Amino acid sequence: MGFNLENITRENIKGLKPYSSARDEYVSKGSEMVFLDANENPNSNGFNRYPDPHQRSLKSILANQKNIEESQILVGNGSDEILDLLFRVFCEPKIDNIITLPPTYGMYKVLAGINDIENREVFLNSDFQPNIDTIVANVDDKTKLLLLCSPNNPTGNLIEENKIKILLKEFKGLVIIDEAYIDFASATSWIDCLNEYPNLVVTQTLSKAYGMAGIRLGMCYASEAIINLLKKIKPPYNVNVLTQNQAIKGVLNMAEVANQVAEILNERSHLQNALEEVPFIQTIYSSEANFLLVKVDDANKRYHQLLEREIVIRNRSKQPLCDNTLRFTIGTPEENIKLINALKAIK
Ligand code: PMP
Repeated sequence: MGFNLENITRENIKGLKPYSSARDEYVSKGSEMVFLDANENPNSNGFNRYPDPHQRSLKSILANQKNIEESQILVGNGSDEILDLLFRVFCEPKIDNIITLPPTYGMYKVLAGINDIENREVFLNSDFQPNIDTIVANVDDKTKLLLLCSPNNPTGNLIEENKIKILLKEFKGLVIIDEAYIDFASATSWIDCLNEYPNLVVTQTLSKAYGMAGIRLGMCYASEAIINLLKKIKPPYNVNVLTQNQAIKGVLNMAEVANQVAEILNERSHLQNALEEVPFIQTIYSSEANFLLVKVDDANKRYHQLLEREIVIRNRSKQPLCDNTLRFTIGTPEENIKLINALKAIK
């Protein structure tokens, strides 16, 4: 039997009547309207009114750029909120399960824990690619979500296209592809395949390449049917006015984003070269993201030595396959020089 959205949606969500907010219908009808419906302070200061609950201006730009319908987009308070909504629409606490592929982004496991969902961990192979047979062997009729992260955090690699295609065809739940780092990658987004795979969900964010981690804006791209389910449970005003306005400016400024991505990629390759000269760095994993994962002799020791020099990095050693690994975010040229000098100075 093929993918059936109805079959994987929680019963209570199917029957849920969503909260309808004051501005559901009227927000776009113009400024002459008198709004006495939402108990706001009437004095204008730019944010005395509730935000557009449907984020229409932002979505219309995104739809244009991605060549999809606005109805295929949900935006949220970071992609973390979007992931949370996906868990809550599809996973029945204590009954359902999900599959994650460690080493990967830590929030998937935390969200499974919050929602009391069994997290079936199928470790990536030694080349950080998914093991299709083991994934398939772990699926049962309660497996609702498969979380893929491509480029993967913390390993930095893309998940191979043909493997993702097999999983999209074989898996009867939702395949979520977390593309937080896609703007740094040599591959294009899976958004282009949305119409081909009804179980595909792609998440992206303005937190990385767009340089807007502080405003908290994440995007979810999927079929209209999936998006409609997520809309049912999202808080009515989940993206505030300041964030919506700033996000619009950000997504309209693609030239600047492209410049910054090019600079970060350039810095990544400088840093990679410099790291090759550091005697205690044993492996530098190739990266399609704005960070580098390296294997060292003693990750704890090196982490603390850098901290003493006021450089904060991430020790990823507790993750499977990541023994003695450290993750460096690509900084400004000056920050990267500081990192390189510190690495060369420590014994
Ligand atoms: N996915 C991945 C793979 C990430 O690394 C991160 C942030 N570290 C997120 C999602 C969360 O992004 P956001 O800031 O949009 O919540």
